[in-house]
Amino acid sequence: MVKQTIQIFARVKPTVRKQQQGIYSIDEDEKLTPNLEIILPRDLADGFVNNKRESYKFKFQKIFDQGASQETIFENIAKPVAESVLAGYNGTIFAYGQTGSGKTFTITGGAERYSDRGIIPRTLSYIFEQLQKDSSTIHTTHISYLEIYNECGYDLLDPRHEASSLEDLPKVTILEDPDQNIHLKNLSLHQAATEEEALNLLFLGDTNRMIAETPMNQASTRSHCIFTIHLSSKEPGSATVRHAKLHLVDLAGSERVAKTGVGGQLLTEAKYINLSLHYLEQVIIALSEKHRAHIPYRNSMMTSVLRDSLGGNCMTTMIATLSLEKRNIDESISTCRFAQRVALIKNEAVLNEEIDPRLMIIRLQKEIQELKDELAIFTGEQRTEALSDAELLQLEKLITSFLDDQDPESRLEVGTDMRKIHHCFHHLKKLLNDKKIHGKSTVSCEIKDQDCQEPLKEEEYKKLRDILQQRDNEINILVNMLKKEKKKAQDALHLSSMDRSECRHSQSLPFPPGNPEGLRTLPSSAPKQIQDVSTFGYRSSLLHRKTGMREEMSLGRQEAFEIFKRDHADSVTIEDNKQILKQRFSEAKALGESINETRSKIGRLKEEITQRHMQQVALGVSENIAMPSMPDLLEEKLRSQLEEEKRRYKTMFTHLKALKVEIEHLQLLMDKAKMKLQKEFEAWWTEEATSLQVNSPAVNSLSHVKPFPQTPEFQQETSQPLFNKSNVNARKILPSPSPIPHSQEHNSTSASLESSVPERPASSVPLTGDSQTDSDILAFIKARQSILQKKCTSSAPSVWIMRKVRPRELT
Ligand code: ADP
Ligand code: MG
Repeated sequence: MVKQTIQIFARVKPTVRKQQQGIYSIDEDEKLTPNLEIILPRDLADGFVNNKRESYKFKFQKIFDQGASQETIFENIAKPVAESVLAGYNGTIFAYGQTGSGKTFTITGGAERYSDRGIIPRTLSYIFEQLQKDSSTIHTTHISYLEIYNECGYDLLDPRHEASSLEDLPKVTILEDPDQNIHLKNLSLHQAATEEEALNLLFLGDTNRMIAETPMNQASTRSHCIFTIHLSSKEPGSATVRHAKLHLVDLAGSERVAKTGVGGQLLTEAKYINLSLHYLEQVIIALSEKHRAHIPYRNSMMTSVLRDSLGGNCMTTMIATLSLEKRNIDESISTCRFAQRVALIKNEAVLNEEIDPRLMIIRLQKEIQELKDELAIFTGEQRTEALSDAELLQLEKLITSFLDDQDPESRLEVGTDMRKIHHCFHHLKKLLNDKKIHGKSTVSCEIKDQDCQEPLKEEEYKKLRDILQQRDNEINILVNMLKKEKKKAQDALHLSSMDRSECRHSQSLPFPPGNPEGLRTLPSSAPKQIQDVSTFGYRSSLLHRKTGMREEMSLGRQEAFEIFKRDHADSVTIEDNKQILKQRFSEAKALGESINETRSKIGRLKEEITQRHMQQVALGVSENIAMPSMPDLLEEKLRSQLEEEKRRYKTMFTHLKALKVEIEHLQLLMDKAKMKLQKEFEAWWTEEATSLQVNSPAVNSLSHVKPFPQTPEFQQETSQPLFNKSNVNARKILPSPSPIPHSQEHNSTSASLESSVPERPASSVPLTGDSQTDSDILAFIKARQSILQKKCTSSAPSVWIMRKVRPRELT
């Protein structure tokens, strides 16, 4: 058992403005426990704090200032926890702090750079690396990902996320067994045999979380996410299984949880936007107080799920994330205060070992066999399950003569064989019962009339038959049970041997060199459980669905999306990552080719060595001389070359493996960024559409819209029905118009506004009649308007945009 208080760390988020820096200082020397001093700005201290304190000091295990890298955070905070989880203890790391202070950045990571990977991906990488190194134990890893929002639990890995809205999904509920162990109903566990599979699950969960989030439901700041790695391990042949869980928790934003003033008084009434954080605080307070018998874990879902992590069987670590800017001073102080209380909580982590019943049966069966063998050696005869017919007959004879023997001293000698002893008892019992029934029936016969003897016999007979039937049934049931047990035992044997071979298989599975595109496929050893909807297949279908949205978009909307995308701040990151990805791909490809080359070189060298060796032997035989004792120089040279190539191969292979991880991660980041872009576009689009619908009749907006440049071709076509599909298609093959000077274009734009738009009466704009499409059109027009305005004022006019789309093509 390991007794330990919850470890607390602080991480300060980089500030944007330099002048904010006088607000805190870190004192690392004082008795080895670092101090974080938060200095109150004068105006705050003089204003609403009346006791005039000017600074607050808080102790932390370690304080990570603005410059701390993700790698440093992992090495110092997560790695020790991951190590104890690998040793069989439960672990928890949770991030606490106000929204925007860097909880998600710390736990999951940033979405831009590979180096911004957070604790989860780094821990997964570390755990799988360690598991691969340790071949003496059989391991299985499962992943679950739970989100708690408004006291309801949702399974972020539920494949139905894609099709259903959050409210329609089955809620994750808590079940408590008589030993007060918590079980989560409806939370799926997914086996992950490799780092790649586990990362896919993380990505899947994050994507599902993003999909569920709408502007009205800012789930990410108000929900808690618990990513759990479940590890089981056992030594081959042992019946003891170790289970350990690692919870990596991204809590909801802590703002306004018991908002106290910097001086300690209550500034405002406590407002709880997040009830479960409030209950978390209550549990922490109860735990940090001595002699508190009742800890209110049951009040909320989160405290129930994290029960072990808070004062229980777990090694827990808290990261207080701080955004130390002037306006966040009181939130930061309250985060630090919370951390100080958390630091008082004592946990007791124990090794979670249990006996696997299937393995226990196998072990017992083996033991029985050994004992039987020992007995056989001892008695000199092989013991079978049942006595033979001859033995039974002999026994019955012995019993009969024993019963017939009038000598009170006579004994029934059957030896030490328990089977024989048991049989004697059974036989005697049977005889006794028979005699009883017989005796009874004689007595009753004496009393009653002769006539009643027949029906009574009949009755007895029926009763016996029933008993017999009952016994038969019992025997059948028992035989079936026995068969099942036997099958289970065989299955267990089979499974454990499969486990082992799977483990070996995955370790020896090199990924195909020179095929970076193929890197994302799941290995065929991926177990069945997750393959009902394989995470990869699911993820790609999800992505396809998400990115496929564009295929269903109207042309105008697609075009607006293109522009939106181009002007979006993230596009630079996406472009950058794309370039890096391309570079990595070509690196991987080149490396793959070199690896293949080296491999064939190794093959050739091996062949040469064998040939050389055979030549030497043949020479020795033909000239009838013994093999020269001097080493063959050529062979030695070949051998050293072979070693050199093997080393090269190994180095390149390791490098390729690292490249693979990086490529995977970059792809995830890009997918995520694309999806974010799409979501933001959709939100913007809907907003535009609604505001247009709400604000004014269609024409009002049209009348002040900056118009599109009109070609003669368009003016001719205005007599044709608007939104004609064939026209839209025909447009695709039109040649691109040549650029025209900016000023000219602007003028022609306003000219065509007067000539074309007023021709349509305000009340009868021939829109489609479908309100969705209409609002799409209107939103698009508005979008174009703002883009045009932007473009017109910018120095480089984008003729391409202005010319390419015309209103009739908007459906
Ligand atoms: P939270 O989850 O606490 O609401 P986030 O992790 O989303 O906050 O962080 C808010 C923003 O600040 C994000 O854009 C994130 O990338 C950035 N950020 C947070 N911490 C850091 C850090 N240590 N280094 C660089 N950027 C950070
Ligand atoms: Mg967050």
